[in-house]
Amino acid sequence: MKYDVVIIGGGMAGLIAGIRCADSGLSTAIISAGVSALHFSSGCIDLLGRTADGGVAREPFSSMPEFLAARPGHPYARVGENTLRASLAFFQEETACAGLPYCDNGDENHFHVTALGTVKPAYLSPEGVFSELVKTAFETRRCLAILNFKGFRDFHPRLAAANLAKNPLFSDWKISTGSLTLPPIAPQGKNPRELRSIDIARLFDTESRLGEVAEQIKEIAPGADFVAVPAFLGTSPRRGAEKRLSLLAGRLIYEVPTLPPSLLGMRLDAALKARFAARGGVFIAGDRVTGGRIEGGKLRFLSTHQAGEDAMSARFFILATGSFFSGGLKSRFDAVEEPILNLALDRTLPRNTWYSSKFLGDESHPFLSFGVNVDENANPRDADGRTVTNLFCAGAVLSGYDPVREGSGSGVAIATGYFAAGRVMALSKTPTGI
Ligand SMILES: Cc1cc2nc3c(=O)[nH]c(=O)nc-3n(C[C@H](O)[C@H](O)[C@H](O)COP(=O)(O)OP(=O)(O)OC[C@H]3O[C@@H](n4cnc5c(N)ncnc54)[C@H](O)[C@@H]3O)c2cc1C
Repeated sequence: MKYDVVIIGGGMAGLIAGIRCADSGLSTAIISAGVSALHFSSGCIDLLGRTADGGVAREPFSSMPEFLAARPGHPYARVGENTLRASLAFFQEETACAGLPYCDNGDENHFHVTALGTVKPAYLSPEGVFSELVKTAFETRRCLAILNFKGFRDFHPRLAAANLAKNPLFSDWKISTGSLTLPPIAPQGKNPRELRSIDIARLFDTESRLGEVAEQIKEIAPGADFVAVPAFLGTSPRRGAEKRLSLLAGRLIYEVPTLPPSLLGMRLDAALKARFAARGGVFIAGDRVTGGRIEGGKLRFLSTHQAGEDAMSARFFILATGSFFSGGLKSRFDAVEEPILNLALDRTLPRNTWYSSKFLGDESHPFLSFGVNVDENANPRDADGRTVTNLFCAGAVLSGYDPVREGSGSGVAIATGYFAAGRVMALSKTPTGI
């Protein structure tokens, strides 16, 4: 199998790179071993949640210069502000075309309510979580009902309500809780207690049941003008399902991102895959890249678990295999490695300093910043220290940033996936290709 570009890893970084490469006319394949971090994420896009001194960043782009001055190796420093903004605009265009529009709050972060009733900053969110309508509702409405489906165990309205009530933002709100009854679920043969969010969402893949839920909402929460429910409005990206339910119920409906598997993240995954397929991209799911052959400073072939040795060749490759969570980095007792090509990593410190003493403390865990060390073009070096000129790295496999502490996970994946594709597109036009 020979392509112009082969991308290893089908998470946010690989999909953004793939859509952009395929859109520019390059024959592009993504090979991905399993589901990505998207299935576990809130589906909201973190860009930068912290300032240089660890405070809360209200305006990520205003905080960025000082933040990056102290972190010159950060992926955002490599891509630059213009490319970062272009990548976010590209993401918004693509998701809107897929029927899953993502809204911003100008240059400011907005907040979304989590399943635990805490509030978390994000830069972009799907319309059901943040929009001008939701923003106005948070500013003007004061009567919130938090509702669950009877028996669904991954969301607890009373816990969420108790935590929200402690937040000064909600101090003058009236917050009530209640339970909706699911439509008959006999076809699935399941007790509600066995259901995960994805099972409930499947019940709502057709419009017909929205009316039933709307009637229940009116009955259970008569005084509420704002209703939060666990995300359940269908498995696929569908423009405006929450708007239709809001109209039917006569109240603003807000979908709360729930615990993994995360429906909002899965919808985003489906939307990006649909955009990639629409451009003629080939998505090879369920196969694992096991190694590659580097010759003369270029990656020539990939071997995969199912297709065997040297099964895939391409002019360009993008490595977007994620971090430890997805197997893009592996740790042994005394070392960390990039398992496919044994690429050079940034400093990985002695093991006893990989993490800080408090799991949920304010300090960063150093291992979260480990990753592949790349140059200004996003090219890595092989184990012998030679630059691999037709290989570009993107997303969580990169070193130099801490997605958890900084609140920058999806932002870095989008920006670096877009940047890697840009490098490939520029080089593919040169006669030698490199
Ligand atoms: C649990 C969790 C929750 C998160 N929540 C949020 C959030 O709410 N908001 C936010 O902005 N960010 C969040 N993040 C961070 C953000 O989702 C990630 O930083 C970002 O999505 C990383 O994307 P990626 O494409 O680099 O890697 P990943 O999403 O990890 O994808 C890597 C892909 O590569 C594949 N792969 C790995 N090795 C191979 C191989 N050898 N062969 C073939 N395929 C391979 C994997 O199967 C996987 O599909 C979260 C991260 C995690 C882990």
